Parts: sequence; structure tokens; C-alpha cells
Amino acid sequence: MMKTVWQKQNAEGMKAIMDFNEGYRQFLSKAKTEREFVDESIKEIEKKGYTDFYKTEGKLKTGDKVYFNNRGKNLCMFVIGRKPLKDGLNILGAHIDSPRLDLKQHPLYEKDGLVLLDTHYYGGIKKYQWVARPMALHGVVCRKDGTAAVISIGEDANDPVVGITDLLIHLAAKQMKKTAAEVIEGEDLDVLVGSIPSDAEKDPVKDAVLKLLKEKYNIEEDDFISAEIEVVPAGMARDFGLDRSMIMGYGHDDRVCAYTSMQAILDNDTPERTSCCILVDKEEIGSVGATGMHSEFFKNAVLRLLDRQSEGSFTALSDVLENSRMLSSDVSDALDPLYADVNDPKNCAYFGCGICFNKYTGSRGKGGSNDANAEYVANVRRVMDENEVSFQTCELGAVDVGGGGTIAYILAQYNMDVIDAGIAVLNMHAPDEIVSKADVYEGYRAYRAFLKSMN
Ligand code: MN
Ligand code: MN
Repeated sequence: MMKTVWQKQNAEGMKAIMDFNEGYRQFLSKAKTEREFVDESIKEIEKKGYTDFYKTEGKLKTGDKVYFNNRGKNLCMFVIGRKPLKDGLNILGAHIDSPRLDLKQHPLYEKDGLVLLDTHYYGGIKKYQWVARPMALHGVVCRKDGTAAVISIGEDANDPVVGITDLLIHLAAKQMKKTAAEVIEGEDLDVLVGSIPSDAEKDPVKDAVLKLLKEKYNIEEDDFISAEIEVVPAGMARDFGLDRSMIMGYGHDDRVCAYTSMQAILDNDTPERTSCCILVDKEEIGSVGATGMHSEFFKNAVLRLLDRQSEGSFTALSDVLENSRMLSSDVSDALDPLYADVNDPKNCAYFGCGICFNKYTGSRGKGGSNDANAEYVANVRRVMDENEVSFQTCELGAVDVGGGGTIAYILAQYNMDVIDAGIAVLNMHAPDEIVSKADVYEGYRAYRAFLKSMN
């Protein structure tokens, strides 16, 4: 095995890794939805001198920092560089949505004296992992008058939690014969939320829960029609391992790359090439919708910048995009010694060995992958080596075992050089995922080096 990031550190380096990761652990614990990630990010970036683009006027100068907030679920940050926009951007892109359970539009029902919330899962999950554990409710309920109730239940130590029940082992003989894919069915991922009846004749427990929601959040049952409530694991991200070398928490995929990308652009004051950090929604369901990477929001943001810089618009846009370079920052699968046979040991990611570059992802013969140009890969290697960043190269699994995708191919459609670059994760898409603190820090150093030195 290659030398790990840990083995290259002195006391100062170890402290830098631990301090950075403590910031990440706290941030991750507060940002459990795409909306929360955007809110927390804006708080942090405004302190570091970023302004909402629409609150700025006139030509932007070198070092000016602006952001575009798309519907509170998707963020795009820019630091204006010394060179004109037409010379291209150095772009970091990551996604801030994670697998979870979403409430349906008519979620609430009473059965056998209990009240439950019906859900539809979001993204790829092993359903059996999401039952019999404490869960929290996060999101918004939008009322017809344009106001919204912001919901976060289950995080404070004094809050109640909710969750999905599972069958006791004593009576599970029939259930245990099912395949793992069917042992918990999608329609059975319903969240238990109440059991005290009111004095109403019909559905008294549901009536009592609705009264509680009315009292606490001023919402009616019909308001769930226009709500986005995400059922996510309750509680803080935690240091993991006796040596505290890892972090276990919900949503490392892909908030670990989003957080490190954001920190990297915050450290980047007057770059040569304009720096950009894109944090997108909806990657886990195909990068769809107005806040996903397929949306025109990014292109429109660049057009608005061009317009402001009087660099022209439509022809210049193709110059900007074609001359840009991107790290599509998404997590990789770390080799798990319990399941080592799903990977090719020469071409897979190991915990603690630094940022992972995937020349290609995809499945069944690289299907659906971006497959970065060799010339660009060489340029990226140069930047990493010049900045003494530890990196490894890997594929998502051995050939024909499975596979996956990222947002890389979407930006590559602009005829831009893009490569996947992310942090390795264990338990990917489980309620609690694990990352190595060494890799988190090395990811941040890699993104910082890219913004500074990529040409
Ligand atoms: Mn991902
Ligand atoms: Mn994912």
C-alpha cells in the first residue's frame, strides 16, 4: 500500500487535519438538507466578503467575491481573477443533496391507534438500513399566503425523534426468507409520529397530531401538499474510531466535497483565473430540476458576469466555458476489507491515501461516464505534485460489478475539461457514512491547489 497522508505529518500537520475536520463535523451536523447547506454556507461566505450578485453594481474587479443563490437549494460562488473571464474559469463542483426519505404530499394517516407519515425515498438506498433508528424531520412547509414554516425536529437533545419500526425477530421467520432488496418494501418506509388520541370521533390520534402541528407551526393538513420535509438520521456527526481518525455522519456524499470545495474557494483571494464553486441539488436523482446541474442556472450566472464585465455575451460564453477546467468533486468508494472483492486492488481508493481522481466512472464498459482527457489528467497531476497534495487514482468498483455517475459529464457537455475528484467513503448511501479525516483535509488542499495553480 502507498504511504498514507498520516505517515507524512508532523505534529503541526496532525493538528491542522484535526482542526479542519472539527469545523467540518460541526457544519455537517447543521446542514442535513440542501436548503440547510445553502443557508449555512451563505452565513459563512458572507463573513468572508461574499455578496449576493444582485446586490452588487457595476464592473467587478479582481478579488471581488459574489454568489448566486438559486431557490435556496443551489449555490454558485465566484472570485474574479486577474485574467478576463474569456480565458476560462477554474471550477469546483459538488452536490449537496443526499439520499433520504421525503414525505409524500398526503403523508399523514392513522392506523390501529398510531399515526404515521408516508414517504417516498430519494436516491439509491438499501431500505433495510433506514428502519429501527432515530430519525429527524427537516424542511419547509409552504403556506398559500407565501409564508413558510421551517421545520427541524429531532436534533436538539431535548427534542423528540421519530422513526420507522421493524418486525421483531421472534415473528420474522417469513420476512427473513425475503431477499435483502425486499425485506423492507418502499411503501413500508412510514414514519411513526404519534399515539395520544384527542376526543375526536374519527382518527383521534391524527386529530391530536394535527392540533399539535397547528399550535407549534401554524400549518394545516393541506399544507403538506406544498411542503418539502426530509426524514434524515437524527443527531450530530461523530468522531469515529478509537484514534478519532474518521468521522461518521449523515450525508458525507457529497457534502464532504461541497464543504471542502467551499473552504478552498474561501482561501482564494486574488486568483489568476476566475474561481468558481458550484454546489448543486438533485444529483442523487439524475441532476434534474431547476436546482440540478442540468439546469441553465450556471450558464445564466456566467452570462450575467460577462454582461457586467462588458466582455460581450453569447460568443464570449462559449470561450469562457470551453477554456474552463473543472474538478467534479464527488465521493468515491473506499476499499472495505470486509468486501474487498468488489474492487480491483490496483485501481481503487484506500482510506487515508488522499484525494481520489476518477478518470472515468460509469458502468458496463464506462457507460454514462465523462472519461477525462489524458492531457488534462497530466495537467491535474502536475498541479497536485507542485503543491505536494497526496492523491490516488481509482474506479468505482471492479469491471462489471456495478458503477455510478456524477455531475462530471454535464459540465463536459460545454466542451470543458472535467475530471472526477473526491473523497473516499465507507458505508456510502447508508444513514451514517464514514470518511477519513486525512482524506477530508487532503481534499481541501487539492481543491485549493487547483484553484490557485490550474492553468
Ligand atoms: Mn455523490
Ligand atoms: Mn450518491
